[in-house]
Amino acid sequence: MSAALGRLHEPLNRLLGTRTANALVKLGIVTVDDLLRHYPRRYADPGQLTDIGSLQLGEHVSVLARVEKATMRPYANRGGARLEAVVTDGRHPLVLTFFAKHAGALRYHEQRLRPDASGVFSGVVGEFQGKRQLTHPDYLMVGAEVDDDEAALYEASLPIPIYPATASMPTWKLQRCVRTVLDTLAEDDVPDPAPSEVRARAGLPTRFEALRLVHKPESAADHGRGRHRLRFEEAFVLQAALAQRRARAAEEDATARPSRSGGLLERFDAALPFTLTEGQVSVGAELAHDLARPRPMQRLLQGEVGSGKTVVALRAMLQVIDAGGQAALLAPTEVLAAQHARTLRTLLGPLAEGGLLGGAADGTRVALLTGSLGAAARKAALLQAASGEAGIVVGTHALLGEHVQFADLGLVVVDEQHRFGVEQRDALRAKGRVAPHLLVMTATPIPRTVAMTVFGDLEVSTLTQVPAGRSGIQTVVVPAANPRWMERAWQRVREEVDAGHRAYVVCPRIHPDDDIAGPPESELDDADLVPAGGEGADRAPLRAVLEVVEMLRATPALAGLQVDVLHGQMAPVDKDAAMARFASGASQVLVSTTVIEVGVDVPEATVMVVFDSDRFGLSQLHQLRGRVGRGSAPGLCLLVSTAEPGTPAAARVEALAETTDGFRLAQLDLELRAEGDVLGAAQSGRTSGLRLLRVVKDAELIEEARRESAGVVAVDPGLLEHPALAAAIAAQLDPDQEEFLERA
Ligand code: ADP
Ligand code: MG
Repeated sequence: MSAALGRLHEPLNRLLGTRTANALVKLGIVTVDDLLRHYPRRYADPGQLTDIGSLQLGEHVSVLARVEKATMRPYANRGGARLEAVVTDGRHPLVLTFFAKHAGALRYHEQRLRPDASGVFSGVVGEFQGKRQLTHPDYLMVGAEVDDDEAALYEASLPIPIYPATASMPTWKLQRCVRTVLDTLAEDDVPDPAPSEVRARAGLPTRFEALRLVHKPESAADHGRGRHRLRFEEAFVLQAALAQRRARAAEEDATARPSRSGGLLERFDAALPFTLTEGQVSVGAELAHDLARPRPMQRLLQGEVGSGKTVVALRAMLQVIDAGGQAALLAPTEVLAAQHARTLRTLLGPLAEGGLLGGAADGTRVALLTGSLGAAARKAALLQAASGEAGIVVGTHALLGEHVQFADLGLVVVDEQHRFGVEQRDALRAKGRVAPHLLVMTATPIPRTVAMTVFGDLEVSTLTQVPAGRSGIQTVVVPAANPRWMERAWQRVREEVDAGHRAYVVCPRIHPDDDIAGPPESELDDADLVPAGGEGADRAPLRAVLEVVEMLRATPALAGLQVDVLHGQMAPVDKDAAMARFASGASQVLVSTTVIEVGVDVPEATVMVVFDSDRFGLSQLHQLRGRVGRGSAPGLCLLVSTAEPGTPAAARVEALAETTDGFRLAQLDLELRAEGDVLGAAQSGRTSGLRLLRVVKDAELIEEARRESAGVVAVDPGLLEHPALAAAIAAQLDPDQEEFLERA
């Protein structure tokens, strides 16, 4: 890798001097390559001065402005001198102030700050006599680097790159460093991960050329072209890595698990109390086909909330059991694992009572293995897994423990995959003698390009339909400040419970005095909150589970009802107990955090009240809402909101009230969010390979990169003919990256 990078791998101290190199380290820049990847954040157009009126006090800024005058002011009594320059954007003045012991020390600045010259001035915005001021700003005069007037004029017309900077390394210093380094390089020093035939087809410059275009543009078209090429490269390297993963998986051996007549699957289908939806049938056929091949299935099943993924997964598990194998089902929390085990046992009925009195003679068993099991129960579950007596083993991360042995693990189903990293996935896959088949399920609908970027090594199946006979969910926004509406909300809860149904009440926090829902025991308590930024800083604090439960127990409309709590800080047994009470109807109102967001299935729950709904992310609200209206009775979702009409927060909540189409909401959510949030935390910061690529905006580019990289990898799977691409992949796939490839 270092050989391929050659000169790019050099540390910067030799080229720039130790002092400068040390200052750059603070920005995470160590090598030539790091510096060249420190792309400008934006470009200032010399024809367009910065709006000085909009500068905020205390902000570190780089301002493009024109000098109006510079005045030397010696101090008469105490010696020393002050140089005061006024620069302008044509409307507002900005004062630049320099102090020195002697006026002579300020002459240098006085000479450079000539009236009518333009420059970029960097510093922290202060105030002096009612005017915006920079004290001892760092600055670079436009066109000052060249001696003859013509060259100066030309230089003054160029776009000025503005770099992410620090006080000790202002943008113009960075610009100078990048130029110095770039000028020492030639085409051959900069290996290009994009092969020339790919570049030719896509009409892209070389990497070297692109670096020059973004760091030393002569026009806006230049930096646009350079950025486009670098963006393509990010997509291309990522997609090539994914193509390699797919190619490697296609080489791997797996045990074929073809379906068998007269087995558990046939009997399960025959006893199923409902008809499978068309989608469930066709996705089922895809899975059956994959499982019958001697290559590991690698499939992502994404489905609308309530579309019935569990049954689809169970049918795949039964096919594997029929073929002599076992299946493992991984859930993100103990609550969900326990629920899955219950659901599977219920769905299977006698088929899950193999070897028990009254059970089907050739039935199987569902074992639950979680961290909170008692020693005896744990031993029994471990034994069932190891002996093969349990055809299905359900668990959380505990399933990945080294002591867990399977007789013949044929299929791994990961529910709500975005909570699992790649290590866990690989650890589990390593449990089989050969790679087990893999089915990843996600209930968060993912727009196509995100799926391609994040799950690019998986085939995708999609369930868009929800089973017939659902009466749908009505969603209503309830203004928190309106007591009559709130009263009516609790009456509605009462009516639902009186009709034999149950209610969820969701709050963003556990304790009234916590800042957030934490310290969360389970990350699922972590409400996916949208910052209140600018939407009213003086709002009431967020509602908390432990406060709301007390309030509801004292609410006349709910008198006589059992109101329970559920959150991630409760002991696992207490969580299970609370869930079981609610599922059985012993309690009818469950006040909880977002811990119920993912996959909790209580068909009798028909109403949900979400406090501070205007602060939740759209996708999360959609998930939450999916917890009600799962039976035949219609669902009702009451979104309690404190958002001011007309704000983005209000728009978010209203969007949810208008549509139940998860794919549309997911797309909308993406558009409303910053990129870092889309791909998860592993994406942010300098370890991220994605600096310029925007998964939502760059959809076409990603498609193109995917096609091109697939072509390259198909011909040269080991990338032996493409060392620069191989090196780029290796550099991107440090451990952090490896994880991000597999995360949503
Ligand atoms: P999700 O896709 O959100 O995980 P589930 O698998 O939990 O959905 O299914 C939601 C509910 O719908 C469950 O109670 C399940 O038994 C039921 N269900 C699944 N498929 C069908 C069907 N074809 N017809 C009727 N009900 C179904
Ligand atoms: Mg589910």
